[in-house]
Amino acid sequence: MLKIYNTLTRKKEEFKPIEEGRVRMYVCGPTVYNYIHIGNARPMIVFDTVRRYFLYKGYNVDYVSNFTDVDDKIINEAIKEGKSASEVAEFYIKECKKDMKSMNIMPATVNPRATEEIDGMIDMISNLIDKDYAYVASDGTVYYRTRRFAGYGKLSHKNIDDLEAGHRDIKVTGDEKQDPLDFVLWKPKKEGEPSWRSPWCDGRPGWHIECSVMSKRYLGNTIDIHAGGEDLIFPHHENEIAQSEAANGVPFAHYWMHNGFLNINNVKMSKSLGNFLLVRDILKKYNGDVLRFFMLSAQYRSPLNYSAELMESAKNGLDRIRTCGDRLKDLISKSTNMEMTEEEDELLDTTKQYVENFEKAMDDDFNTADAIAAIFDLVKFANTNLDEESSGDILMKVFEKIEKLLGVLGLAFTVDKDEIDPEVEELIEKRQQARKEKNFALADQIRDQLLSQGIELKDTRDGVKWKRV
Ligand code: AMP
Ligand code: ZN
Repeated sequence: MLKIYNTLTRKKEEFKPIEEGRVRMYVCGPTVYNYIHIGNARPMIVFDTVRRYFLYKGYNVDYVSNFTDVDDKIINEAIKEGKSASEVAEFYIKECKKDMKSMNIMPATVNPRATEEIDGMIDMISNLIDKDYAYVASDGTVYYRTRRFAGYGKLSHKNIDDLEAGHRDIKVTGDEKQDPLDFVLWKPKKEGEPSWRSPWCDGRPGWHIECSVMSKRYLGNTIDIHAGGEDLIFPHHENEIAQSEAANGVPFAHYWMHNGFLNINNVKMSKSLGNFLLVRDILKKYNGDVLRFFMLSAQYRSPLNYSAELMESAKNGLDRIRTCGDRLKDLISKSTNMEMTEEEDELLDTTKQYVENFEKAMDDDFNTADAIAAIFDLVKFANTNLDEESSGDILMKVFEKIEKLLGVLGLAFTVDKDEIDPEVEELIEKRQQARKEKNFALADQIRDQLLSQGIELKDTRDGVKWKRV
């Protein structure tokens, strides 16, 4: 039985989908005004793994994740770069997708962009105005009437009166906001900003309405899972609930999942603090799968501290698994007797417990840390029990078992030569050519260059072998 910790109820609950065999999930995506940092990578990796586990269990998954491509930060970046906001957004969306590919994040079923969904936002805001959940100020700003939504605070477990008290001394500056808790659904444009026509004024949407609308359009009024980093619980997700439930009249999401923060030297990693590491900084030194393995070494709700040592130990851990993968592959290719013996059959039976442990861990709110421990147990089993004497059948079965579980984590058991960058392959070829021509200086130079990219070459009697280091 799969259990999910639901922020809404603060309990682990059995997962019951709205529709048998199908999961509808929405994950709040990044605001695209910079390359993504490894903090942003955490929800991407974590919820991609959640999706993969549902697939493993036989569900179909509709996975929607947006790009917020209109925002003050994007506009400021555009001014700084002397570009339009849409050029900035377009550029960073492309770069973000490249980083996601390096981390083996499956492409979303739909990747909506806020600026392409404005009609839906205007519809939902109009609906909220009709139902008196929103009102229009004289400058055309539309506000959500927070107090009218009875459930306000249910996700963040905040009491609306406490929130009000906290806001009391904040002066409402000149605008016509009726209550300090009210938030913006639509705001008038300022000179030089991107804007769209609306019944209220030329302007642009507030951030919260974007996700309510994109989730509704691609997944329906009620969805199974809504997810994001824990900083989004309040106000973003609280406001999304207020908007969606007031507009649609039904619960918005059954399960709310939030990942813990990635810290650096025990301080929250964030763009505003300037203490962030970009995914592509990490990729200069490590493969994306090492970053992925590092992220999954902790349960997703716990804070995770980044350090160079932890990355190294993630790399070593993954290497240990891959060495086993390479060895099994080698044994399989050399094995002559296919048939499994009776003893082997019994031996194979003992691996069931590790698969069960893996599933038990993942069923318990996606405890990837324990799931990885189960994979290490299988690796140990393979290392101690399988060798040149083993039948091809048992070798294959164990290989496939480990490969399948690693696949849930988005990791490959072996890295194929085919997966190597074409550029790297070209360099290997070039080095071979240089060696043939006895240009050893150039050959060594290429070898060093590859080593700095994490590819170690070994010249063997069977030709050049390489491995990632
Ligand atoms: P943003 O672009 O700031 O809206 O963030 C995109 C996603 O990354 C959101 O789900 C955030 O909660 C998440 N996020 C941002 N910083 C971190 C961090 N340091 N650790 C974990 N998640 C983060
Ligand atoms: Zn969102």
